[in-house]
Amino acid sequence: MREGPDVVWFRNKYSLPPNDPRLLALTDTEIALERELQLWMEDAPLRRCATCDVFTYREICPFCSDSELKAGPTGDPAIDDLLAKKDSGEKVSLADYFVRNEDGSYSGRAFDIENEE
Ligand SMILES: [Zn+2]
Repeated sequence: MREGPDVVWFRNKYSLPPNDPRLLALTDTEIALERELQLWMEDAPLRRCATCDVFTYREICPFCSDSELKAGPTGDPAIDDLLAKKDSGEKVSLADYFVRNEDGSYSGRAFDIENEE
């Protein structure tokens, strides 16, 4: 039988019994992704775990479940990181956070999240 907080959440959301074939057909990753998507749709801030460096919309890290995550002041990990460094007196370069586009405007630099599971 499938267990864990994500499975319980999923079963409650869709009113599924524990042996429902639709539930059993999903991997744990697919269920976790569904939960993240739901939180994103509820406008939860994106948080970054300081222990394992994973990004999540949850309040508690799914990989270090004892790590309670606090959303930064802006809810954007890149900007929050920039502000924290600036507040600590560290010299920061905007080039680490923004890229200049061909038309001269600037865009936020995307975080490299390829290493996330
Ligand atoms: Zn973590």
